[in-house]
Amino acid sequence: MVDEQKIQQAVKMILEAIGEDSTREGLRETPERVAKLYSEVFGGVHQDARELLKKCFVSDEHDEMVLVKDISFYSMCEHHLMPFYGKAHIAYIPAGGRITGLSKLVRVIEVIACRPQLQERLTTQTADTIMEMLSPKGVVVVIEAEHLCMSIRGVKKPGSITVTSAVRGLFRHSPVSREEAFTLIKGK
Ligand code: ZN
Repeated sequence: MVDEQKIQQAVKMILEAIGEDSTREGLRETPERVAKLYSEVFGGVHQDARELLKKCFVSDEHDEMVLVKDISFYSMCEHHLMPFYGKAHIAYIPAGGRITGLSKLVRVIEVIACRPQLQERLTTQTADTIMEMLSPKGVVVVIEAEHLCMSIRGVKKPGSITVTSAVRGLFRHSPVSREEAFTLIKGK
């Protein structure tokens, strides 16, 4: 699905463009290695995260909040093709007892992260995918990430974290539920 040949040519050109000798020992295999790596880290372009939530469990009467905290993720910023990475937290209130496995939620984030991405879009797409597929009463997704494109250039201090959130359904209308979700997410 990913044209590795084309990536190899492009990487070779970048090396030459910065004035490097793309045939020297250390760089000879680099285009091939980057092509392999890119086909992995951009593998989500060809995947539909919704597929992962097609099968859900129905657990009678389970209508309490489900919270999955500290899901590690790695993504590539679409503006610079450099990594941003950190932790995602997902809270949702099931409707009709529809819940999903924790590993499925982790996979949803992974698939959406494996694309040229923006942290804001990663956050909203994750929330919208869960809303669409599980039809819960509400969803909160919070993502905390460090962007290497900023850290490496000293635009922001290394280690500074960008936080984004997406709030859907009941959490939007009910300050009490929203407060509860954010308190649980922040609590260490
Ligand atoms: Zn960037």
